[in-house]
Amino acid sequence: MNFYPGPSKVYPQVKDWLNEAYQNDILSIQHRSPKFMSLYESIVKNLQSKHNIPKDYTIFFTSSATECWHILNDSFSTINSYHFYNGAFGKKWLDYRKANYSKTTFGVEFGVNDELEDKFFQQIPQNDYLPNIICLCQNETSNATQISQKRLSEIRQERLNDFIFVDATSSWGGQNLNFQDADAWFASVQKCFGLPAGLGVMALSPNLIEFYKNNNQKIIPKRYNQFSFLIEKANEFQTTYTPNVLNIYLLSKVMEFVPDISLTSQKIEKRATSLYSFLEENNYKLLIENKKMRSQTVFSIELNEPKLSFLKEEAINNNIILGNGYGKWKTNTFRIANFPQHTDKEFEVLKRFLM
Ligand SMILES: *Cc1c(COP(=O)(O)O)cnc(C)c1O
Repeated sequence: MNFYPGPSKVYPQVKDWLNEAYQNDILSIQHRSPKFMSLYESIVKNLQSKHNIPKDYTIFFTSSATECWHILNDSFSTINSYHFYNGAFGKKWLDYRKANYSKTTFGVEFGVNDELEDKFFQQIPQNDYLPNIICLCQNETSNATQISQKRLSEIRQERLNDFIFVDATSSWGGQNLNFQDADAWFASVQKCFGLPAGLGVMALSPNLIEFYKNNNQKIIPKRYNQFSFLIEKANEFQTTYTPNVLNIYLLSKVMEFVPDISLTSQKIEKRATSLYSFLEENNYKLLIENKKMRSQTVFSIELNEPKLSFLKEEAINNNIILGNGYGKWKTNTFRIANFPQHTDKEFEVLKRFLM
């Protein structure tokens, strides 16, 4: 049982889907073929109907969430970008951008128990003519915090002139996100999609695309992952390079298989509430004290050495993989993923082990 928050457990059906992919000759299809395009289209349709992605959003594939950071950084390098972060992934995104575009990149750190209140936004100038970019990590996998959907909607309403980019790598597919509340969203499939690593997904608002086009009229494609090129190909249900067709096939299977996100998120939230109470009742110390900031899909529990190593070893002896800490919290926490592909039964076994 793998509770690592990514790569994590994959859906058990992956075994059959892999076989099917082989039998149906998916593994050698051309990425410009109708067969590929219809796989792509079916994913888009299911993301629209099951994850409520607006129909006018453009969806394309990348190799990973990390590549999505770079695509967004490079495509809007001249626009001031404000990165609000409280953990390792938000900071990495900021650091990559700063390394290339330091003049237009600003980092704003907030505490893990802060609710990203209005005061953090006050230092951003509002300008009717030139928007800013606001970069948020909706679910910070390193410390198990989240920016709630409610707070995201408020930020959207407060910053109507700005573009909002959201890293939802460890929540898209598990939480019921309102995609209208941001202009760029992305994730990797090894988290809440229950698939092997090596594929990212990005969704873009029509406003963002229009702004990009108006400001980059004479752009000549110079790179495979240039924004204009990605959008052009996405409109044809194609990719800019020979993609990970196998994983795209698996994603089409997952999207056919999963129920509506409202059902999935109910299951995730119910299990999260129950696991948080369980951990507190059993005297585990949660890294995040502010309940509003606690993630629904990733848990971080503080534990010092030598107890930490002992627990992780005991877990392995019980056929359970716990996630290591990450970044600043590498040596004093362990993490547990609560993803859609996990079953309630597995959580009962985990609880019995942690009791
Ligand atoms: C896992 C993760 C990433 C990186 O994903 P890759 O697939 O390694 O690029 C980025 N952001 C968050 C929040 C993550 O959880």
